[in-house]
Amino acid sequence: MALKKCSYMDEIKDICTRIIEAFSSDRCPLCGVLRMDEFNSLWQWAGHSGENDKNSEKRKQLINAGGFCSYHFWRFKEMCTDYGIASICTQLIEKLLEILKTGKQWAVKCPVCSELSQKESEYFSQLLFLLKDGHASKYEESSGLCIWHYMKIREFFGDDPILEFLHKSQLNQLEKIKINAAGLIAKQEPPLNLQQTDDEKHSPLRTTWKMAGLSGLYYER
Ligand SMILES: [Zn+2]
Ligand SMILES: [Zn+2]
Repeated sequence: MALKKCSYMDEIKDICTRIIEAFSSDRCPLCGVLRMDEFNSLWQWAGHSGENDKNSEKRKQLINAGGFCSYHFWRFKEMCTDYGIASICTQLIEKLLEILKTGKQWAVKCPVCSELSQKESEYFSQLLFLLKDGHASKYEESSGLCIWHYMKIREFFGDDPILEFLHKSQLNQLEKIKINAAGLIAKQEPPLNLQQTDDEKHSPLRTTWKMAGLSGLYYER
C-alpha cells in the first residue's frame, strides 16, 4: 500500500497531528485517534435519532445496516435520548419482523465499525509515513502501539523495512512497561508506596492499553 504524503492535504495533516499528539499519551496512538473518531461517529448518529430524521438518508443507512453491532449499540444507548432509541428501534424491529416472517437471516453491518475499519487502514499508512519522516524517536519513547495494532500493522506492511524498527521499539516498550508495573507492585506497601514513580503509577493504565487496545476494537471488524 502506498504511503500518503502529509504535506498537501489538510485532512491528512490533521490526522498526522493527532497521531503525533497521541505519542505523548498513555495509550496506543492509533487507538487514541480511533477512540475520538468513534465518539464523533456515535455522536453524529445520535444527532440523527429524532422522529424528524425518520425518513432521512442517514436513518435509512442505519436501518439497512441492521443497526449497530452489540458493542456500539450499547455505546450509542449511552449517548442517545430515550426517544431517539425508541424511534430507531421501532424501525429496526419493523425490519426484523419482516425478515423473520420471510425466513431470511438477520445480518448487521455496523456503520461505526465499518467507518473505523476504513480509518484504521489510513492511519496505518500515516503512522509509517511519520516514522520515516523524523518522528521515530518520539514514537520510540511513547507507549507505542497496542499489541492488536502492532500485529495488524505487520500483516498490512509485512515487507516494509520500517517494520524492523517497530519490532525493536515494541520489545523495548513492552519491557519498560513491564518493569514499571513490577516496580509498582514492589512498592505496594507503606512507606515504600511513597517512592512510586510517575511511570510506575501510570503502569496499570499503560499495560491495559498495551494488552487490550481500544475496547470493542475488534468486536465486529
Ligand atoms: Zn491500538
Ligand atoms: Zn460496531
